[in-house]
Amino acid sequence: MKELYNLTVKEALALLKNKEITSLELVTSCLNRMEEMEPTINAFTFINKDDALKQAENIDNRRSKGEKLGKLAGIPYSLKDVYNTKGLPTTSGSAMLKDYISPYNATVVELLNNEDAVLIGKTNCDPFGFGSSTENSAYGITRNPVDTDRVPGGSSGGSGAAVSYGGGIFSIGEDTGGSIRCPAAFCGIVGLKPTYGRVSRYGAIAYASSYDTVGPMTKDTYDNALIMSVIAGNDPKDATTSNTDVPEYQEILDTDLKGKKIGIVREYLGDGVDQEVKSAILSAIDVFKRLGCEIVEISLPYTEYAIAAYYVIGLSEASSNLARMDGMRFGVESDKSNWKEKITDARGMGFGSEEKRRIMIGTYALSSGYADKYYHKAQQVRQILKNDILRAFTEVDILLTPTMPVVAPRIGENTDDPLKMWLMDAFTVTINPVGVPALSIPANKKGDGLPVGMQLIAPHFKEEILYQFAYGYEKALK
Ligand code: GLN
Repeated sequence: MKELYNLTVKEALALLKNKEITSLELVTSCLNRMEEMEPTINAFTFINKDDALKQAENIDNRRSKGEKLGKLAGIPYSLKDVYNTKGLPTTSGSAMLKDYISPYNATVVELLNNEDAVLIGKTNCDPFGFGSSTENSAYGITRNPVDTDRVPGGSSGGSGAAVSYGGGIFSIGEDTGGSIRCPAAFCGIVGLKPTYGRVSRYGAIAYASSYDTVGPMTKDTYDNALIMSVIAGNDPKDATTSNTDVPEYQEILDTDLKGKKIGIVREYLGDGVDQEVKSAILSAIDVFKRLGCEIVEISLPYTEYAIAAYYVIGLSEASSNLARMDGMRFGVESDKSNWKEKITDARGMGFGSEEKRRIMIGTYALSSGYADKYYHKAQQVRQILKNDILRAFTEVDILLTPTMPVVAPRIGENTDDPLKMWLMDAFTVTINPVGVPALSIPANKKGDGLPVGMQLIAPHFKEEILYQFAYGYEKALK
């Protein structure tokens, strides 16, 4: 039998239900695996060992008494360290929040608690979600378990690494411009950026409020769909959440893809895309052809402006969201007595260079005299990008692109060149300003070279379509 930490959620639930394993055994297997891997990988900022063991025991007792249990009873999961978890540290990957203890739970945590999932730890990330490699974290870099000389992607790199090596059975990431999809691609797992407003952001530390999304990172599509059915839905505490019905996504995966139309974006397979990535994506397209899908070439001509617009708006929002990190409301406190010095000192100490770079750019873009030139211009580009993508959906069911133009870079490869790092996000950042859902799934088989992610994009609130294509592909690849 597989090591327990290697099980999928579906497999683990079946074994737990049949009493072939206990939750205590499952949680212990993951904790042992973490003990073995963490000295090298550093996927976690906090391990919730005692609590997790206690919860697992409690669920086992309730199960043996025949009590009704939640949908995810006894399954250990990890959580990107940007979500508030009552009584536990929440650092957001930044030194600014090194002593912060959450006073309440994020909605996503409450929803998973209600279904008896077991929180096993909080995962490392680039500070406030700022990055694509998890090299900017104040708590050390995270390494990719597939190849430890390489980055796991980011900013939810700790979550990607944890799922890939078995530090918990699934994870919850956060995606503002690719932070779930990029690590999913580099670590060879499945990651969903849901439609904006599909999952509550209440209790998530904000990066860019009009882009931020909360989504599952899992070993396969079924698990992802199952977790989404738990965390999606309206939340009175987040006014941007939608009332649209939440299907049991995992029950509607199996559909015939024959005759369905897939749009291949011409601009996303051009220069600058690694040969390895291109050939994996082209073979994936062949698989879909064999499944009877029709392939249509699409052009998204405004893509070249997406990165600039994404960063101008995203960093404007970030600079204003981070204003509360002043050492008085939130963040490390300085011992200076003059209030101005106190704030300057706290922000100087707490923020690392990536946070400072982004706050300065955002503040500049919003300053009077420049707001029209940059911020408002970027909002106009955002509308054009949206029109571009929505027009494409009048012709096709989904769009298919590489998730990242490259395979996981080596550690340190891009750290001296922040612009190069930002450019790496070309295919993921277009999605968040538009708000549509996008899923990254492995395009190649495990062990077939470094993982390559394929990004599927669907219209607003059509997550089920993404899952159906992904599930069909996964089955065909087996
Ligand atoms: N890498 C992108 C950025 O740095 C996306 C980050 C995210 O999704 N949180 O902005």
